[in-house]
Amino acid sequence: MLPRMPYLTHLTCSLCGRRHDDTPDTYFCADCGLTGILEVHYDLEAVRPGFRERLARAPRGIWRYIDLLPLNPSPLPALTPGDTPQFDFPALAARHGLRGLRVKDEGRNPSASFKDRASAVGVVRAMQHGKTRIACASTGNAASSTACFAAHLGLPATIFVPATAPEAKVAQLRVFGAQVLLVEGDYEKTWDLCQVISTRMGWYNRNCAVNPYLVEGKKTGGLELAEQWGDDVPDWLAISVGDGCTLAGIWKGLREMHALGVIPRVPRLLAVQADGARPLCDSFERGDERVIFGPANSLADSIAVGAPRNGVRALRAVRESGGVFVAVSDAAIAEAGFELASRTGIFGEPAGVAAFAGVLAARTSGAITGAETVCVMVTGSGLKDVRGGTAAAPPARRVSADPEQFAP
Ligand SMILES: *Cc1c(COP(=O)(O)O)cnc(C)c1O
Ligand SMILES: [Zn+2]
Repeated sequence: MLPRMPYLTHLTCSLCGRRHDDTPDTYFCADCGLTGILEVHYDLEAVRPGFRERLARAPRGIWRYIDLLPLNPSPLPALTPGDTPQFDFPALAARHGLRGLRVKDEGRNPSASFKDRASAVGVVRAMQHGKTRIACASTGNAASSTACFAAHLGLPATIFVPATAPEAKVAQLRVFGAQVLLVEGDYEKTWDLCQVISTRMGWYNRNCAVNPYLVEGKKTGGLELAEQWGDDVPDWLAISVGDGCTLAGIWKGLREMHALGVIPRVPRLLAVQADGARPLCDSFERGDERVIFGPANSLADSIAVGAPRNGVRALRAVRESGGVFVAVSDAAIAEAGFELASRTGIFGEPAGVAAFAGVLAARTSGAITGAETVCVMVTGSGLKDVRGGTAAAPPARRVSADPEQFAP
């Protein structure tokens, strides 16, 4: 019999460093509790020989990185997240005085957001460990992607969403057949409820910040970028930040690909928050790792997080990369979304285009110079939140059906 997960060695606590074994119910540090986020480790020295050759033969999408995922190599689902394109936009770069501007469009994933990368790994892991239901608390995308992959694999799903979640995201949950619970409370209360109920019921808990394996799915964003870049690594990678798992995951992927020799260096990270939900940006500017929870008001619902659960790792990643945090206003997010869509054809949801708004702010402040190249992760499709996504687009004009009255 083939070894299962031949390269996964162990997990460590990001607070106290304690070593943990990989078991079906390992979620957080036994000593530190919920804040003791675990990190998954692989024997990269063992992965290295023949890694590029195995990649050259592997299918497109995230399952090609099975050596670096916390899953048994089979069975894997037919539906595959990832393999999203990265485009170069020289005219838009020139318009903002940048040497280069690339956009990776994550809106093309199966349920139309970056979260599919994590949810697919979570759902497959739940199935491989014989779990009978997966649970998830989310403002939207984590939920819709979980419901999507649970539907694909026939695993029952219970989703806790704040009652204020955008309609299109709730629509996805309903149509994917999940049990949808609209919680009367904000994201924080919703998350706490999911945590308590899944522990009580023995359901597989997808909640990313406490589930270390989900970050491994997000990591594939970094693995894939590294393969797309090769030797041509941009100076900056811009990512929007709510809980911080997306950024921390992508950073882990880039580091692993650097260790495996796929990329010669790593980019600096531009971490972008919304003005109305900026606890990590504040910690960064204070220069410490303490995260003081604050308000969560933003048009960009997917990053409207006042109580981030994976903040420490995101802060460390940005510092390690020599990067910075910036915060942008809702008006700047709306403008950036309209500019990106009307000049490139890529329609991102507000949280997705916030990263682009952050690049423009960093260009204005001089944090990013005109000699540099930037890659922007657009993390979700604009069709997820049509109202928010079109906030800065001009209205349509009403005309008469009579051709005689038409004026251009
Ligand atoms: C979840 C999400 C983010 C931010 O990810 P975090 O892990 O919460 O930092 C950004 N954009 C979109 C579209 C998302 O759904
Ligand atoms: Zn610990």
